[in-house]
Amino acid sequence: MGPFNGDDGNNGNGNGNGTTASRPGTLSKPLADLMGSWDDFAFAPIRESTVSRAMTRRYFADLDAYAESDVVIVGAGSCGLSAAYTLATLRPSLRIAVVEAGVAPGGGAWLGGQLFSAMVMRKPADVFLAEVGVPFEDEGDYVVVRHAALFTSTVLARVLALPNVKLFNATAVEDLITRPVVAADGSTSVRVAGVVTNWTLVSMHHDDQSCMDPNTINAPLVISTTGHDGPFGAFSVKRLVSMRQVETLGGMRGLDMGAAEDAIVKGTREVVPGLIVGGMELSELDGANRMGPTFGAMALSGVKAAEEALKVFDLRKAQNDE
Ligand SMILES: Cc1cc2nc3c(=O)[nH]c(=O)nc-3n(C[C@H](O)[C@H](O)[C@H](O)COP(=O)(O)OP(=O)(O)OC[C@H]3O[C@@H](n4cnc5c(N)ncnc54)[C@H](O)[C@@H]3O)c2cc1C
Repeated sequence: MGPFNGDDGNNGNGNGNGTTASRPGTLSKPLADLMGSWDDFAFAPIRESTVSRAMTRRYFADLDAYAESDVVIVGAGSCGLSAAYTLATLRPSLRIAVVEAGVAPGGGAWLGGQLFSAMVMRKPADVFLAEVGVPFEDEGDYVVVRHAALFTSTVLARVLALPNVKLFNATAVEDLITRPVVAADGSTSVRVAGVVTNWTLVSMHHDDQSCMDPNTINAPLVISTTGHDGPFGAFSVKRLVSMRQVETLGGMRGLDMGAAEDAIVKGTREVVPGLIVGGMELSELDGANRMGPTFGAMALSGVKAAEEALKVFDLRKAQNDE
């Protein structure tokens, strides 16, 4: 029996209380048959430890498998999710870990501007909506998704259904794993080779608790999409400054929708070997304008991040395996 086939190691019948359990593959009655007969209703039996093992066995198997990932995406906002969808779909052989500090993935894309509902995307970002199956109203130069949550929930559902992606939410990236790179002239820089993680709640208590060491994920390529500066935002580019790989951050500039969206998509790139930066995190690095509530650049920056990743993946993997 495989590890996920319901072998609990208790009394062999999967529920530990001596009753006969359904075998995997036994379907429940159709919903229509349940309705109207609630007096006779009962759930299938279960023992608490069965629930516990069903969760922990899978989570620890994932931690084991993804300790060596091909790509780590930091941040599951609109850019990170778009990158995950594109990369995992284009290259199903890649093992992709998405690390999200929040309990709820989706970043700032659950609402439009000023907490309104509608999400605006300028063309040609409509192609991404069509690709993932998000309905929209065509207004000519731009399209409107009725509710931003429809975009985020749809992309999220598509990403989570992909067999080569694992979302680790409530998990913060606390640092980057680096390897030294020595140039021909003897100068040294770094290549990013993975991430350092911790439960977000633990990360938030480093100042008042001691000895809470982190965990790690090795990967030849990291895509950082942690959003603009904030308690958790712009994480990787700020770390590049503190480890002296970037002199200073440009700082997000004032709002200019026209300039900002093109700049973010065009600028999405590998910033140092092994680290691709996209979405609003890039505005902090490049000193690009903010764009306000128009989200096409986030989706297409994610697509570009995936494309940049595929360009360099084989090289970075070879360097990582040396
Ligand atoms: C105050 C505020 C101002 C805004 N200003 C703008 C603006 O000027 N322009 C604009 O276009 N949009 C703005 N927005 C809207 C929206 O946030 C962004 O457009 C869009 O969501 C950015 O997408 P993103 O994927 O780059 O980042 P986000 O949607 O911010 O997603 C980043 C994700 O990364 C996660 N994360 C961050 N650090 C870490 C870490 N260390 N480890 C793991 N996960 C991490 C966060 O929890 C988050 O889920 C703003 C939103 C807010 C709340």
